[in-house]
Amino acid sequence: MSRRWLFADQLGPHFLDDPHQPVLLIESKAVFRRRAHHRQKAHLVISALRHRAAELGDQARYLRAETYREALRQVREPVEVHHPTSRRALALVRRLDGVSVLPPKGFVTSLGDFADWADARRGALRLEAFYQFARQRHGVLVEGDEPVGGRWSLDTGNRQPPPRTISRLDAPAPPTPTEDDIDAEVRADLDRWEREGIRFVGRDGPRRFPATATEARARLRHFLAHRLPMFGRYEDAMRNADPWMAHSVLSSSFNLGLLDPMTAVRGAEQAYRRGRAPLPSVEGFIRQILGWRDFVWHLYWYFDPSWRHSNELAARRPVPDWFRELDADAVTARCLSDVLAGVRDHGWVHHIPRLMVLGNYALQRGWRPAELVDWFHQSFVDGYDWVTTANVVGMSQYADLGRMATRPYVSGGTHINRMSDYCGGCRYDPRQRLGEDACPFTAGYWGFLARNRHRIPPNARLARTLTQLDRLTDVDAVVAREERRAITPP
Ligand code: SF4
Repeated sequence: MSRRWLFADQLGPHFLDDPHQPVLLIESKAVFRRRAHHRQKAHLVISALRHRAAELGDQARYLRAETYREALRQVREPVEVHHPTSRRALALVRRLDGVSVLPPKGFVTSLGDFADWADARRGALRLEAFYQFARQRHGVLVEGDEPVGGRWSLDTGNRQPPPRTISRLDAPAPPTPTEDDIDAEVRADLDRWEREGIRFVGRDGPRRFPATATEARARLRHFLAHRLPMFGRYEDAMRNADPWMAHSVLSSSFNLGLLDPMTAVRGAEQAYRRGRAPLPSVEGFIRQILGWRDFVWHLYWYFDPSWRHSNELAARRPVPDWFRELDADAVTARCLSDVLAGVRDHGWVHHIPRLMVLGNYALQRGWRPAELVDWFHQSFVDGYDWVTTANVVGMSQYADLGRMATRPYVSGGTHINRMSDYCGGCRYDPRQRLGEDACPFTAGYWGFLARNRHRIPPNARLARTLTQLDRLTDVDAVVAREERRAITPP
């Protein structure tokens, strides 16, 4: 039997055909040397690898080396590996002698099924259509070929602003894993690597994300029992100093391969069918996994590699150091400061701060999309090239002019005000676009539209906004002010 090489994002039991087959695990330092990763991400990845090695005992060969190639020189037997999750790693394993590449695992829809679906479509690929296909293909939340509840998406009922009257949502925080000797060893090693010159960003802290399949399953059970019922209603809302809200906080577990996504999908469906969670919450959660997560994975492989470098809005500014280094204290704007602090302290914020605050701010200022792809990859515990390419290039930066998104995800301060509790305590006024109190998001919104209207394809959803833009008499002053402030912390 060939030895199964498991990359650090292929660590769950579902990546083995036989629970007793020989395994190869490689801890490579080169990846951390190339670019500055978040310290907690480095900790999580290495901790997960070493925990897997400890679980497997003599069944696993654990090699520490500078590069994968260097480690593989010590391996004499045939090796097989599941299709890696980045183009760079796929090119590597295809070049290696004695390594056979198996189909990918860790996603619900196969590459072939997606390609057949996508090839048959005319025009842009949209999540809604893929999600409906996936529900039917895998028989999730359907009765016959029809959606349970009569509609494929219940998103309109899920877009509520945050509750204003209680300090916390009625959902207990996700349980924090207990660190062990392996974590202590990882922390000591990372301290030593830092002294040797490897650079990290963000703060160290207790490990907050599962490093084993057992921990990931425990978090899933806790979410299904206690947090899922509240998830849907407030999934698009943000609250100051409440980073988790009712989100599952399982993305890093899926993306490390600890948790099979279909286990979570079926678990949520069962919660609904047993009357333990409302349909809008369950549907919203399933759409994120069976729909969005699989969709962005497939687009990464379906589109040409050049997609990653799209920059159709001609965004030329480098990502500034204060943002790159997560310097939340340099930022006055309350929303951006809180969200950057969340990334600095946890390596994670949920999907709305990523889009509505971080991505939106970068889009408005014209920062280079390819640099943002790397930044999200390195700064988030769940960031991988396949995740951040679609989420940044296609979704948040609209750098491909709509190959997957219907319009740029750009919004002003009034929208942030509606969907969060940030603006009340902010030094800026979300209604102002000029003057000392001008909200940087509101000014940036109009500045972005004025700068890019000739580049954005005609779009019915933007028509009214562009008519409003034409009526503004101060737009030149807004644009000029935004140009001056494009890379300084707001
Ligand atoms: Fe953010 Fe503007 Fe609201 Fe301040 S006023 S919190 S900068 S959206």
